[in-house]
Amino acid sequence: MSRQMGDSHRRFLQTMMTSGITDEQGAKALYQYCCETHNSQYAPDKLDDFIDTINSKLQPLFMQIRKGMSEDNGQQFYALVNTTETDITRMSSDYADNELELFKKTMDLIVSSENGKASSTEILNCADTISNKKLKKSETEHLLNRLIHDKWLCEQQGEYTLSTRCIIEMEPYIRTMYQDQVKVCQICHNVAFQCQICENPTCGIKIHNPCVARFFKGRTEPRCPSCDDFWPHEIPEVRQPHSKSKR
Ligand SMILES: [Zn+2]
Ligand SMILES: [Zn+2]
Repeated sequence: MSRQMGDSHRRFLQTMMTSGITDEQGAKALYQYCCETHNSQYAPDKLDDFIDTINSKLQPLFMQIRKGMSEDNGQQFYALVNTTETDITRMSSDYADNELELFKKTMDLIVSSENGKASSTEILNCADTISNKKLKKSETEHLLNRLIHDKWLCEQQGEYTLSTRCIIEMEPYIRTMYQDQVKVCQICHNVAFQCQICENPTCGIKIHNPCVARFFKGRTEPRCPSCDDFWPHEIPEVRQPHSKSKR
């Protein structure tokens, strides 16, 4: 197979550099658009090969287009990530040291929580414990808004979660940093934050909410795929990605 970067690959990469992250539907549409614009070969099921070609050229630049799942809706996303920095220092060009310290503390809260969330109150309390230059309440709130804007955090009703982009980009760091705390999803084997947990104390496996929906769909009596105990949680509905408007 050809590993040559063409204009279609370059255009795809340029768009990813601007947006940072796109869902699978968006990536497919962009792939088709780039191929058609530059009259290059297009095959609907070859998106991952197309991205592999781009990645082979990005590797020496310490960048990569990486695939991952949204913990909210189970959709696949593609994010352009930096592979040089192994920790949050990758964000140091955009954030001051005390801001990074608060982000790190927010991550600690989210990772150690059962539901993958941290409340604004918990985060504000953490702001008082910053070692070098304390952040005022208004500064903390402003920082949280920036972290949402820059797609590191998501917020819903005062509860903060790690964004899909953050999980895709930081996964190697999270796995190293929180070895003892972080668990992977029993179904998809990616790190799991927002998830359901098996209540059997000797088991305690985690499954992402969208993975729960897919795994238990159509089963009359849900049982833990690891210990076979009854799965007592409410099974969410499988959420369909946006219907395809084209074709
Ligand atoms: Zn999963
Ligand atoms: Zn179990």
